[in-house]
Amino acid sequence: MAYSGKCACSNITFTFEHDPMMHFMCHCTDCQVMFNGSFEGYAISKEELTVQGDLSTFSYSGGSGMSLHVNFCVKCSTKIYTQPDILQGMIYVPAGLLRDQIEFKPKVEIWAGSRPSWTSRPESLVESYAENGTIERISSLLENLDQRG
Ligand SMILES: [Zn+2]
Ligand SMILES: [Zn+2]
Repeated sequence: MAYSGKCACSNITFTFEHDPMMHFMCHCTDCQVMFNGSFEGYAISKEELTVQGDLSTFSYSGGSGMSLHVNFCVKCSTKIYTQPDILQGMIYVPAGLLRDQIEFKPKVEIWAGSRPSWTSRPESLVESYAENGTIERISSLLENLDQRG
């Protein structure tokens, strides 16, 4: 089973092969600014992602103190994936890009302390961290929650 998506203007297309390792939400204040709300998306291995088209990158320092690199279409600004330095080899892909192929069911939320007050906790959640969780916990979650078939 392969997945594919594209940006709003179709300048960027991408594919990856396997089911995402994790469905998660990030409610941090950076995501509130960059995504106009919480980030909702998938963790996948960077090696699996194939992208065609011209991406631009914006890097910033996240709540963990380590950098994240947001890759977006230079033409229409759709964000395709975020690469976090804290999890080497992993990337985060917004759920909306795959809305017609994967039903988003978040298992994990991070920075729950800044979840917008008008949203409710999804019933699918199994782990909720007030902050970002430690790298160890996130890594073990990735192993335990591996949702690939
Ligand atoms: Zn585009
Ligand atoms: Zn965030």
